[in-house]
Amino acid sequence: MMKQPDARALIWSQLNRKWDVIVIGGGITGAGVFREAVHAGLTTLLVEAGDYASGTSSRSSKLVHGGLRYMKNAQFKTTIESVSEREHLLRQGKGLINRLGFLFTSLQDDPMPGWVFGIGLMAYDLMARQWTHRAYDRLDMRELCPLLTTPLLKGGYRYFDAQTDDARLVLRVIQEGEQAGGTAINYARVAGLLRTQNGRTCGVTLQDAWNPEENAILELQAEAVVNATGARVNELRSGIGQNQRIRPLRGSHLIFPGKRIPLSRAISLWHPQDGRPVFFLPWEGVTLVGTTDIDHPDLQQEPIISQEETEYLLQAAWHLFPELDIQAGDIQGTFSGLRPVISHGKRDPSKESRDHILWQEDGLITIAGGKLTTFRLMARDVLNCLRGYFPQLESFNRDRPILDSPPDWLDQVLQFDGLKPADRLRLAGRYGAAIPGLLAVACPGEFQKIANTEYLWAELRYAARAENVLHLADLLLRRVRLGLLLPEGGRQHLPEIRRIVQPELGWDEVRWTQESRQYLETWRKCYNLPH
Ligand code: FAD
Repeated sequence: MMKQPDARALIWSQLNRKWDVIVIGGGITGAGVFREAVHAGLTTLLVEAGDYASGTSSRSSKLVHGGLRYMKNAQFKTTIESVSEREHLLRQGKGLINRLGFLFTSLQDDPMPGWVFGIGLMAYDLMARQWTHRAYDRLDMRELCPLLTTPLLKGGYRYFDAQTDDARLVLRVIQEGEQAGGTAINYARVAGLLRTQNGRTCGVTLQDAWNPEENAILELQAEAVVNATGARVNELRSGIGQNQRIRPLRGSHLIFPGKRIPLSRAISLWHPQDGRPVFFLPWEGVTLVGTTDIDHPDLQQEPIISQEETEYLLQAAWHLFPELDIQAGDIQGTFSGLRPVISHGKRDPSKESRDHILWQEDGLITIAGGKLTTFRLMARDVLNCLRGYFPQLESFNRDRPILDSPPDWLDQVLQFDGLKPADRLRLAGRYGAAIPGLLAVACPGEFQKIANTEYLWAELRYAARAENVLHLADLLLRRVRLGLLLPEGGRQHLPEIRRIVQPELGWDEVRWTQESRQYLETWRKCYNLPH
């Protein structure tokens, strides 16, 4: 395997050719379009300004869901389509997308009677053509979740949705596009659009964000350019004189150690302050509490949780679990992302539609809004639009798999001592056909778990060697999620991490010191409590 910087330099040197499609943005939306365009036989390039999934797609609630809350705003089409996508993803993404039980509590001071939610759940189950929800009284709810000691508890409902690792889902989709013949590069920023004399978009100006001192800039021609830059789609659209229609809304989460709020299923409540649903989600050994929904108009500002959002989420914890005596000091970390929501001029951010939208303006195709869960539907709309550019394209076939099936030999390869069935499934879901590479690089003892997480040391070595890691934050916040799962972003484990990954990354002492300092600074600023 070639070292990362050499592999990237080789890709960069081969970019200068005419592409059928250039996809801008390596979040889940761009990843989905990339994979489908490659599978449709188009020569496709995906470019990402930072790291893959470094935007919203690594900072979601990590649910693959129909979005029950959207039914409250009568967004039934969004819910129906999302439920159907959830079922496909659960079937095809085993080990990466897992079913998760939910308990929705009914409390005495709720803004609506519990039975209204029950009717919503009935419709939700009907959409998925399954009957999984159930009503419980107060005592049953306490039996299912002994932490529910609040005297306000009247009862509640159980239902099912699904959960994933959002950043790994993005990586898997991009890697499947690459394996099918597409080209993807991170740390490559589109600085502007190329246009023909009659104003039609015909390519991009690409800046090497990895080697800016070399000031490497390429002008790349393409038949079609897709703008999938999430909350930033207006930046490229404004270049062709289009007006602002995206309303960036910040959503934040608190992270608690699993031991502090121990849950075996997700729990939710209507927030006592504004009646929005707030979720307590067990994820990879920690408990996530979210989310908020606040205007974030200045995109130059990184999304970071505010003091008010912290208090809002803590208030939900105090309301639901008064006896746990949760304090701000229990919070292990935080993260915030920006929803690229299409503005319909609603006063209340939570009332804005979560549907996606596609604009075709002077040859530039912009796709935005939507959800992690609906990435394939967004890709479908782009592919159907691309038929206007490539008349030979067949119409989009929704029966084609969303994710590649694991190869037949995979199970066999994973059968060895030291890997439990749950580990095998997890690895298959995350690495698929790349597993032989992961097994080949592992050194003795590296099938041990890292601290109290599910991650194996071998995953860290493999990511450093083969998964386009250019900064330590790429590795610890997105390839493996140790930055979210361990106290202080895993600071205590950095010496051991260094021993494994420094040689793989080819970094000298100075570079390691710089990278670890930069990583800890990013963690302190964006993944910690506000100061
Ligand atoms: P992004 O992930 O932001 O990707 C856009 C990418 O474009 C970025 O990586 C950025 O660096 C890149 N880019 C920008 N400008 C340029 C440029 N000039 N050149 C090259 N690249 C560029 N959905 C769900 O289904 N389930 C959930 O549980 C869920 N929870 C959520 C919770 C929160 C708090 C938020 C904010 C959203 C949530 N969503 C959820 C929605 C979902 O996360 C987003 O809809 C989705 O991640 C958006 O993906 P994207 O690819 O459009 O944008």
